[in-house]
Amino acid sequence: MASEFNWAGNHEYAAEEVLRPTTVEQVRELVARASRIKALGTRHCFNDIADFDGGVQLSVADIDVPIEIDAENASVTIGGTTRYGDLAEPLDAAGFALANLASLPHCTVAGSIATATHGSGERHQNLAAAVSAIELVTADGELRKYSRDADPDVFPGLVVGLGALGVITRLTLDVVPRFDLRQHVFDHLPWEAATRHFDEIEDAGYSVSLFTNWADDTVDQVWLKTKVEPGAPVEARTDLFGALPANEPRHPVRAAGMSAVNCTQQLGVIGPWYDRLPHFRLGFTPSAGDELQTEYFVPRRDAIAAFEAIRGLADKVSPLLLVSEIRTIAADDLWLSPVHGGDRVAIHFTWKPLWPEVEAVLPLIEERLAPFGARPHWGKLFRMDPSADGLYPKLAEFRELADRLDPEGKFRNPFLRRTVFTG
Ligand SMILES: Cc1cc2nc3c(=O)[nH]c(=O)nc-3n(C[C@H](O)[C@H](O)[C@H](O)COP(=O)(O)OP(=O)(O)OC[C@H]3O[C@@H](n4cnc5c(N)ncnc54)[C@H](O)[C@@H]3O)c2cc1C
Repeated sequence: MASEFNWAGNHEYAAEEVLRPTTVEQVRELVARASRIKALGTRHCFNDIADFDGGVQLSVADIDVPIEIDAENASVTIGGTTRYGDLAEPLDAAGFALANLASLPHCTVAGSIATATHGSGERHQNLAAAVSAIELVTADGELRKYSRDADPDVFPGLVVGLGALGVITRLTLDVVPRFDLRQHVFDHLPWEAATRHFDEIEDAGYSVSLFTNWADDTVDQVWLKTKVEPGAPVEARTDLFGALPANEPRHPVRAAGMSAVNCTQQLGVIGPWYDRLPHFRLGFTPSAGDELQTEYFVPRRDAIAAFEAIRGLADKVSPLLLVSEIRTIAADDLWLSPVHGGDRVAIHFTWKPLWPEVEAVLPLIEERLAPFGARPHWGKLFRMDPSADGLYPKLAEFRELADRLDPEGKFRNPFLRRTVFTG
């Protein structure tokens, strides 16, 4: 097989081939027949979570499933291959929206919820929390349907499933009435103000992101996405605790000279939710392209202490960074969600593509964040052991569920054996 890489190009898939069924029936046959198999989405993970050394990958990209909007029940049902970017416009045209989105619309919904992908916002949960029903092909080749209402005992374990429980063929998501947002970027927020007023800054928008290199005295940029209430006067802030509004569009990685043409519209121009919540536009390269990513989640109450811990490592971290992003996420009850059990702040690192150097610095960051019970993003690069005692209180239940649905471990790739099914 020709070489196949993930989106960032830092991981060459070791799987023998990618199976591409065109019907759910074929998925059932292929899964039933396989001994080692792992679902593949749009390949945006930075590690080997979607790979299977010694096995095969299965992509549902060629299965055509229409987008079905159920206005009465405020929900939408999609296929396993639908990307957030495909879903957005039909949903908006029908008068609906998703409550939140990640920084990019390029990933499949199935692959995103499998790793608990998130956006930002004090009152917004990660994207997986919107899932109300799942249809998946389990290891025996059966098509099984679960829902939040009918299966409350297992459903919270199924959603952030890391691809360990089966191949998702359909998903139903909660939707909300459509809305508009304005996006403003503020430059150079003094760190002193960022820590003293963090709660007010996070409260100042529907979704808020801080971009920093940890070393400077100021947070380079604050991206404020504010909901536009119909009929309410539109007032733009002229100051955010000492940070001033940018006078032209910004790219989060402006220090490396990235052009803002890839980014969603700023300067307060009103636009639909799907074109303001992500930082990056569908059809353009998201982020920097040539990069690595890492992210840790610490309890929201420990945000400032965690920032200080990272700032203490600035001399080691900053030279390797393209940029870091700080976001907040509201708690959920999904067993393997990094925000299971309490609100968290996400500390993200977009690294230069310097893996040996980055790999050496990760344990230092993890050591500094360990006292806060930091959990890593499942789809990014980390060195710590997420199966360590107590980090995920529902880990044992997740393993039992996986044992029930996949008794022979045919979805258990090397990543899962290293991080979840240890010991
Ligand atoms: C530029 C960039 C920006 C990003 N921004 C964010 C962000 O803002 N917030 C955030 O949280 N993350 C972010 N990420 C990470 C990204 O959202 C996750 O890595 C996501 O899981 C990628 O989804 P994918 O469709 O590419 O899945 P893949 O990487 O292909 O697979 C991911 C996992 O999903 C499973 N999977 C895929 N399809 C199925 C299926 N049909 N059935 C069962 N399991 C399946 C795979 O087995 C694997 O375990 C970003 C990544 C990039 C490259």
